[in-house]
Amino acid sequence: MTVTIDWENLGFDYMKLPYRYIAHYTDGQWQAGELTEDATLHISESSPALHYGQQAFEGLKAYRTKSGEIQLFRPDQNAERLQKTADRLMMPQVPTEMFIEAAKSVVKANHEYVPPYESGGSLYLRPLLIGVGDIIGVQPAHDYIFTIFAMPVGNYFKGGLAPTKFIVSRDFDRAAPHGTGAAKVGGNYAASLLPGANAHNTGYSDVIYLDPSTHTKIEEVGSANFFGITKDNEFVTPLSPSILPSITKYSLLYLAKNRLGLKASEGDVFIDDLDRFAEAGACGTAAVISPIGGIQNGDDFHVFYSETEVGPITRKLYDELVGIQKGDVTAPEGWIYKVEID
Ligand SMILES: *Cc1c(COP(=O)(O)O)cnc(C)c1O
Repeated sequence: MTVTIDWENLGFDYMKLPYRYIAHYTDGQWQAGELTEDATLHISESSPALHYGQQAFEGLKAYRTKSGEIQLFRPDQNAERLQKTADRLMMPQVPTEMFIEAAKSVVKANHEYVPPYESGGSLYLRPLLIGVGDIIGVQPAHDYIFTIFAMPVGNYFKGGLAPTKFIVSRDFDRAAPHGTGAAKVGGNYAASLLPGANAHNTGYSDVIYLDPSTHTKIEEVGSANFFGITKDNEFVTPLSPSILPSITKYSLLYLAKNRLGLKASEGDVFIDDLDRFAEAGACGTAAVISPIGGIQNGDDFHVFYSETEVGPITRKLYDELVGIQKGDVTAPEGWIYKVEID
């Protein structure tokens, strides 16, 4: 490698890499995309993405295997989710093949920035779809930009998996009952900044959001999905139309059932019935799994497995999934997309 980066000390910080992909949608269709060295978007001041939040994003990672190859984890799933989000916000879909080819081209063009296997890091890809153009009325844009940029990121848990504590949000919801909770849009994140900051300032990792209609069931953990392992070894994760469908979560559901031999299901997770769980965690692309040590719910502090130790099933799930992502464990059919660097 010719780039000099302190791979061991990477966090989750923007880094301007040499290349990103950009494609424009005009005249009712996607024009040919290309790699560019220009890291600045040039858009109309009236772009609907800026005023009315007509924008969506994705997040996925490329990993370097022990033998030095590079692979993407389930990019087809990110493409499909972006299509669902696009439908909800009246944006044009990015076809799956275009999405995957764009992702591969960005990884390939910046391949020297994919962290080495041993570092535990990965190349994080951020696809972005925004409505642009000279429109100021509240209506969908005519023109769109789809871009993917990338940056190397470190292993979330440098000292190994560690549990942290979370606090139930009483004053704020993340999404409305029939709103955009299931769409990966910036607006959901803008709404979560204040409760998130409140949680951090009082010593918690992030907020647990309850379902917005009854406030009795766990929905999300900050910007990650919740899962629990019941005392009789069932993997359970909330089912709700306002949860963001995490690809990590669906991967864990599959692995819990098919690799660990557990029962696995989506269902209600009532906040006043946490005693049924022996372990709990939050999952998403960034951290893969964040073990949940305890949850502060009003005056009650509920500890799951331990505030300092990681439960055995949480650890097994983490090892299995990370093993697949890094190429050490055989992946289920169709989960891995190799990126050829010639
Ligand atoms: C992206 C995201 C997740 C995690 O999804 P993954 O596909 O596993 O990365 C969970 N919750 C929210 C709100 C998200 O935006």
